[in-house]
Amino acid sequence: MELKGKTAIVTGGTSGIGLSTAQAFLEKGAKVVIAGRNVQRGEKAAADLSKISSDVAFFQADTSDEESVKKLVDFAVERFGSLDVMVNNAGIGIHGTVDQLSAEDWNTVIAINLNGVFYGTKYAAIQMKKQGHGGAIISTSSIEGVIGDPIIPSYCAAKGGVNQLTKSSALSLAKDGIRVNTVNPGYVDTPLVSLEALGQELRDALIAMHPLGRFAKPEEIAHAIIFLAENDFVTGTHLVVDGGYTAQ
Ligand code: NAP
Repeated sequence: MELKGKTAIVTGGTSGIGLSTAQAFLEKGAKVVIAGRNVQRGEKAAADLSKISSDVAFFQADTSDEESVKKLVDFAVERFGSLDVMVNNAGIGIHGTVDQLSAEDWNTVIAINLNGVFYGTKYAAIQMKKQGHGGAIISTSSIEGVIGDPIIPSYCAAKGGVNQLTKSSALSLAKDGIRVNTVNPGYVDTPLVSLEALGQELRDALIAMHPLGRFAKPEEIAHAIIFLAENDFVTGTHLVVDGGYTAQ
């Protein structure tokens, strides 16, 4: 897909991987809507990104809310005329082993990290089918959707669900030329896994789990998302970008 002039939505586009991804789409000449819950952060991110291109807008949306995601898609189409790429990237993590995790925390993670991807995939697919010229849907999964992790079972369950939702959606949407894929990063240097979020000991231990000896940079994941948007023969796949973590 030639991205110049196309419209992309990036949920969670106000920070970390999403912000880098929005930047990469703008650099390719695409029009971009970034979404998040925090208006102040969203407007600042949009103002920063507008230095690359004025074809960028922030829309406040909570991806755990179906109506909010539907409105986000409607906004992108009203503002920029179409929706060609949907990046379901918004996500959170809550630590707690299975015997310690509250049902409330479980539900919060599933609502944002799995239900949100379902709503984004659903309303993007409806809009892309209406337009009739295909499209690309890319969701940010994780290596944690492939391996188990004792301290974040809800996160692993949600990301594993994203992988399976993606394969199933890829099969039903292939005839419409809509490709559906995931990027599955290892740990990426963003606020989600900052020193404040993890503490020094856990962060050092996690870095040591990556054979390349570091966390990914957000732009390395954005690069993989751009590949999944541009390559017209990739669908139903999980692109692992993890510095060798899952090769062990
Ligand atoms: P981040 O820097 O914390 O950014 C998260 C983004 O998601 C923010 O823009 C946040 O904005 C938004 N968000 C969170 N909940 C939302 C909701 N309910 N509705 C709308 N937006 C919401 O995190 P990141 O590390 O870039 O993570 C992005 C994605 O990559 C996530 O799906 C994460 O699971 C995945 N991932 C991250 C890593 C990693 O090591 N960092 C590794 C593998 C996968 P608001 O708070 O304003 O809503």
